[in-house]
Amino acid sequence: QMDSRGIKRLLFSYVLINGIFITLQTKEEVLLDMRASGSELGWLTWPYEQGSKQGWEVVQRSLNGSQLYTYSVCNVGEHEQDNWLRTTFIQRRPSASRVFVELQFIVRDCNSFDGSSLTCKETFNLFSSESDADIGTSFRKGQFKKVATIAPDEITSRNELRINRETRVVESLSRKGFYLAFQDIGACMALLSVRVYYKTCPATIKSLAAFPETVAGGGVNQALREVAGACVENAVSEESPRIYCTMDGEWVVPVGQCQCKPGYEAVNDTCRDCQPGFFKAFVSNDACELCPVNTKLLSSGALFCPCAEDFYRAPDDPTTGPCSGLPSAPRELVATTTQLAAGKLQLSWSPPEDTGGRSDISYSVECRRCEGTACQPCGEKVRLEPASSGLVDTRVAVSELEPHLNYTFTVEAHSGVSLFASQGTPHPPKVTSMRLDERSLTSLSLSWAVAPRRPVPQPTRYKLTYRKKDDNLDVTTYTVLILEKSSVQISDLSPGTAYLFRVQALSPEGSPGGSSIEDEFETLTEGKEDGHISEDTYFSSSEQLKPLKTYVDPHTYEDPNMAILKFASEIHPSHVTKQKVIGAGEFGEVYRGILKAPGRKEGAVAIKTLKPGYSEKQRQDFLSEASIMGQFSHQNIIRLEGVVTKFKHAMIVTEYMENGALDKYLKDRDGEMPSFQLVGMMHGIAAGMKYLSDMSYVHRDLAARNILVNNNLECKVSDFGLSRVLEDDPEGTYTTSGGKIPIRWTAPEAIAYRKFTSASDVWSFGIVMWEVMAFGERPYWDMSNCEVMKAINEAFRLPAPMDCPSAVYQLMLQCWLQDRSKRPRFPDIVSLLDKLLRSPESLKAIADFDPRVSIRLPSTSGSDGLPFRSVSEWLESIKMSQYSENFTCAGVVTMDQVLQMKNVDIKNIGVRLPGHLKRIAYSILGLKDQTSTLSVFAV
Ligand code: AMP
Repeated sequence: QMDSRGIKRLLFSYVLINGIFITLQTKEEVLLDMRASGSELGWLTWPYEQGSKQGWEVVQRSLNGSQLYTYSVCNVGEHEQDNWLRTTFIQRRPSASRVFVELQFIVRDCNSFDGSSLTCKETFNLFSSESDADIGTSFRKGQFKKVATIAPDEITSRNELRINRETRVVESLSRKGFYLAFQDIGACMALLSVRVYYKTCPATIKSLAAFPETVAGGGVNQALREVAGACVENAVSEESPRIYCTMDGEWVVPVGQCQCKPGYEAVNDTCRDCQPGFFKAFVSNDACELCPVNTKLLSSGALFCPCAEDFYRAPDDPTTGPCSGLPSAPRELVATTTQLAAGKLQLSWSPPEDTGGRSDISYSVECRRCEGTACQPCGEKVRLEPASSGLVDTRVAVSELEPHLNYTFTVEAHSGVSLFASQGTPHPPKVTSMRLDERSLTSLSLSWAVAPRRPVPQPTRYKLTYRKKDDNLDVTTYTVLILEKSSVQISDLSPGTAYLFRVQALSPEGSPGGSSIEDEFETLTEGKEDGHISEDTYFSSSEQLKPLKTYVDPHTYEDPNMAILKFASEIHPSHVTKQKVIGAGEFGEVYRGILKAPGRKEGAVAIKTLKPGYSEKQRQDFLSEASIMGQFSHQNIIRLEGVVTKFKHAMIVTEYMENGALDKYLKDRDGEMPSFQLVGMMHGIAAGMKYLSDMSYVHRDLAARNILVNNNLECKVSDFGLSRVLEDDPEGTYTTSGGKIPIRWTAPEAIAYRKFTSASDVWSFGIVMWEVMAFGERPYWDMSNCEVMKAINEAFRLPAPMDCPSAVYQLMLQCWLQDRSKRPRFPDIVSLLDKLLRSPESLKAIADFDPRVSIRLPSTSGSDGLPFRSVSEWLESIKMSQYSENFTCAGVVTMDQVLQMKNVDIKNIGVRLPGHLKRIAYSILGLKDQTSTLSVFAV
């Protein structure tokens, strides 16, 4: 007689022996493998407290030095079993909406338990539950959906152990990840292996088109996934190639054939150059052909084979055909003079010995009259019948000869290539198109094409003429260049200027070809780089040609004082009055004060001071902020009023922003401002950032703490400076790549390799949007910088703040795209926010909000992991201590009472602000949820 333990042990030794039979399939991407996890399974069992009952438990045995861990349960004698085993959070791959769950398990035959078989079961249930985040040890049965009841094909009797393998599909997955759970309802069984995987169609090349590895099957409930491919190198297709990936990971129905370009042939999924001596003239899947007779053998990759020397193709001959030589002379010319007295004779001849391989032979007869040594054409005076040229027959009748004259007849054989061959020097080719390859401020690179001709002529020379377009025509200066190839780079041009170009081909002797081509091209304008040439330029296409002012780095001035002089106006210290300290900057106090300078309206200003004892370098760093700020002039950028540099105490005077820094401003108004107003603030910040990016200025430290707010709730970007990144920012953290970086605001590429661009500013702008919608909440709460970087790396993003319009959250997510080229640009952001503000309806749809991830609620536990000991401790943890009195006065003094409260109760005790009401209500919800630890992200 064995107890349940004994039975289990027996089962598992069997497993160990059989456990080595694991098949690995290549087209499966494994998301979870119980066996691979070894002892680190960490699956959740429920109920937490087993009492006398035994739920699922890990049983381990070793064999040949290796360990096998299994989950087993065997409560066959007990009534009403409901034992749950939940996996760890299984992250889904973005397009894998369908996963396979492969189980190996053993179920013990109920009949083998004497007496207890009445309650014994031989099945168990598989469940799944989707989630956007790892919810840790929080577990609720209600969140799970049943996938299947699983019954063994073979049950294990006392002597014979049998492993069952079953595979089930979990479909329509759409969230970031999911859990599986196994519900035991009273069986004696063991789970030996759980493998979760999805299938992929492997990367492949079909019909010369390459298709990437693709998750099998379409999106939710679709059997096929359409995949776009790209022709392999040197292949093209009319229709873009497509194929379908089935649910079983098989490619089917390729559409849109790719074919090798001229000069290439298909060999094993690639297009290979035609071998020397072969050619291919057209796009096709044919093999390269052997060069025809009388042609030159080119090296590899020939589109056609040009004629060998002294061989030609007639204008109508195909370029793919052979070349022919000129026919040799007609033979055996005979004059028959039977009617000579009547002025007539008959000429006949035999065809040439060598026709040059052609059948289009014709003849011409030339007649000349000679007196002494002087000869001249017979002209009209002598008749040749049927004609004097184009004769197909080898004879001609001559009449109207005059007596006593010497006539000389010449007969020539012609063929289709004669005309061409006798032409002497060929006509220069015609230039058909000119194009701009590259340009800079002072140079243009052009190239042009000539009409194809047969045979292709030897290299020609070209004459290029150009002049400024807008030159007064009377005094126009032309520049003429004779070039040996069909491209040129012209330097020393004026920036932002249009030039007219004309190009004409020349014959070998230098005479111009009949026609020429003219075109106009413009050099770049100062301050602009060509978007498609420089990788980093950051302009939207509509603005690409608009000339713009560009920010000048004060470091480019040898003497930084010159930069100050150029960009900032000097103020006399007697015109500035300091009133009150309002903040502390890196270099010294910041004051509110009054500027009262002659010719200026008196007004409030902020005065940044440089504390005594500074070095010259510090002074320059301090003033560099003014050199930068002074270059900007925009409603949403802090305005520089001027600087004091000529006196001992240097100062920077800017416009005064009554409401101070944005982060603090919002924290003080948590939940009190409508979305519309918040979006209005973001719009202002975006407009300022668009202006900066237009000027090619990269801020690098965009954050709510660096935005200032004035009395009209206008937001302005501030905090410029060179050393500032980020010496004076408390968020600045030294990174491995050197330099200080405010990790939670900074794009991954800027953290990783200091790639600061307007696109990384866009990332930071997304974080600012989040700060604004979350009323100054700290991004990523109390996660450490390392945890933040890890989470971002694993594609997690901040969740939507409470009450955040869906459109706004979508924009944030766009700003946080890993691929910086896919992020929106500031002009796009401004116009989108503008659109949202114009139709307030668009802000009505609220993004999904998960209270457990959006507010870092400590829920059931206080800081030491125990439940809150008091109401005030709980209120403090959610930063709502100001309501302590309200709770006490209403008689709510224990956490049990708190848990009973409904929303209306919270209102009734005096919590009126909607933001606070929500925060408290959500916290209670979280407490009831028994969420013991909360991880916002799966870090
Ligand atoms: P900063 O060194 O620029 O970060 O300034 C330090 C603090 O001074 C800021 O956080 C603000 O609270 C305050 N401050 C700076 N400039 C102004 C301004 N123009 N108007 C009002 N307060 C300012």
